[in-house]
Amino acid sequence: MSDLARPAGPKIIAVANQKGGVGKTTTTINLGAALAELGCRVLVVDLDPQGNASTGLGIEPEDRGLTTYELLLDDTELHAVVQKTSVERLMIIPATVDLSSADIELIANEKRSYLLHDALRQAAMDDFALDFILIDCPPSLNLLTVNAMVASHSVLVPLQSEFFALEGLSQLMLTIREVRQTANPHLRIEGVVMTMYDARNNLSQQVESDARDNLGELVFNAVIPRNVRVSEAPSYALPVLQYDGSSKGAAAYRELARELLQKNAKMAA
Ligand code: ADP
Ligand code: MG
Repeated sequence: MSDLARPAGPKIIAVANQKGGVGKTTTTINLGAALAELGCRVLVVDLDPQGNASTGLGIEPEDRGLTTYELLLDDTELHAVVQKTSVERLMIIPATVDLSSADIELIANEKRSYLLHDALRQAAMDDFALDFILIDCPPSLNLLTVNAMVASHSVLVPLQSEFFALEGLSQLMLTIREVRQTANPHLRIEGVVMTMYDARNNLSQQVESDARDNLGELVFNAVIPRNVRVSEAPSYALPVLQYDGSSKGAAAYRELARELLQKNAKMAA
């Protein structure tokens, strides 16, 4: 990834939307796999106590060992929490249900919003030679999500192609603004990606055109279709690119990865 001149370390992206079931985890896993396929070294940080990204990348609960919980609350070093996945160049810090108490435990910590930021800036980070870190956020705007936004350079927002999709966005944008005004003035919006798009459905088209009217260039050209192979892949513990690389879902995530790289190369230039 030499064309991505970024001496300051990996680009860190929070994948966030406080709505559940909009495609955050699916996008984290598959965008990660698509970037890895393009030669990038990628770390997924599972920041959702449901641990769906961990499961989807084949890390069984009994193999999760030290997790994001220990990374955040026990000052655990990166080498102890980062695990390989079956996908070359794609790594993960897994999560378990333990993380569900973190939101409350964090409140008493005076560095509560900065714990992930500090953890991802350990000197040992250099050893992994990462190009990207993708943080899979929980479906809430809680302290875990704030930690992700404080730790990140940008926020990637999956938007489900359904009615009311845009409604939740103002709350998310407000949180991003608050984080900018306090802990992370440089936080950007990486973009909004339409997920579970059904081209035969007028509603999908309507939501997409509303999103493009309202958000303009923030919306990625790449659109992720509703695709049964995408939904099947996690039960085989694989990204869709590995499960069925010729599916429409795999093609869409490859396109998203290429677009993301292009955007970032432009910004670095
Ligand atoms: P979130 O992390 O935002 O809660 P998920 O990524 O877990 O959302 O997706 C919610 C559900 O929708 C999952 O069952 C997932 O497999 C399914 N899903 C996500 N994206 C697609 C898609 N493009 N096509 C079909 N099913 C999808
Ligand atoms: Mg999820």
